[in-house]
Amino acid sequence: MKAALFNGPRSLTITSKPIRKLEPGELLVKVEVCGVCGTDVHIVDGTSRSTPPVVLGHEYAGVVADTASTDNRELVGRRVAVDPNIACGICYFCRRGLVHLCSNLKALGVDIDGGMAEYSIVPERQVYLIPPAMPKETSAFIEPVSCTVHGIDRAGVKAGDTVIIIGGGTIGLIMLQLAKNAGAASVIVLEPIEHKRRIAAELGAELVLDPSQGDPSALLRDAAIQGGDVVIECVGKPQTMQLAIDLARRGGTVEFFGVAPIGEKIPLEPNQVYYKELTIVGSYVNPHTFDRSIALLTSGKLRVDAFQIDRFPLDGVHEALRRQKEGTTIKSIIVPNS
Ligand SMILES: [Zn+2]
Ligand SMILES: [Zn+2]
Repeated sequence: MKAALFNGPRSLTITSKPIRKLEPGELLVKVEVCGVCGTDVHIVDGTSRSTPPVVLGHEYAGVVADTASTDNRELVGRRVAVDPNIACGICYFCRRGLVHLCSNLKALGVDIDGGMAEYSIVPERQVYLIPPAMPKETSAFIEPVSCTVHGIDRAGVKAGDTVIIIGGGTIGLIMLQLAKNAGAASVIVLEPIEHKRRIAAELGAELVLDPSQGDPSALLRDAAIQGGDVVIECVGKPQTMQLAIDLARRGGTVEFFGVAPIGEKIPLEPNQVYYKELTIVGSYVNPHTFDRSIALLTSGKLRVDAFQIDRFPLDGVHEALRRQKEGTTIKSIIVPNS
């Protein structure tokens, strides 16, 4: 089969790989779609951890083509989404229910061969059935939405809150909708790219600002907004992380959701954290949120149909990564069996 193999920093090649024999508990999935994520860009750049050589791709869904055991043959032909994060189940964190913080966490597409391939071998307990009517493109969003659902839980949005979202890419546009679903009275999106601002407005943001038009704090004051009860950073850059702290109201919560490169630091004024009584939270991957993600996408409470999606065959993976990195697309999707 064909696969996009990450060999080490800045080396991603399309290779032919044999499909190995299934071990007990494993399924063979014929990949329908695999989303390209900012994390993939960071992995290829060498600024996010991974275990190469490894087939890239952790946001994928497909059809079960084979099972290791005869006990679950009924799964063959069913569409499934893959939760890429595999917890050990026996470490300190797993036994406290914090499976996403597992000391031995391994991820498909990061440490184990993932979904940018014609086929992927997946442990059976990592798959979730997809309703047959869900469009293929939508199924590529199940993983990022599951992470964002954990993010909105961690941000603790309450009914009536003002929520500021920094960054209107895939994650920001999903977060916007989740904040509204969680009861936010007003959601403000800061995004420099025009077409993303337009989609944010279409999806119901009360206010959409272009941060390149001036100091965002002043732009908010001009709009008579005194900061956010919750500010969610969905970019992962030091300047926007700093901005998130500045834009939070007294008593507010700041969430660092965007993935900053390892080693990046920001200056923090402790007096601001004290005086504003800020709560700063992180959010890491998707503990037990896959079912909720599928439910949101199936019910239409969360829409991805307004997103600009660019499809690529496996051979187009470099171009797909480039567009995702430049932010000229909302989402690049690899269709390996096209
Ligand atoms: Zn991702
Ligand atoms: Zn564990």
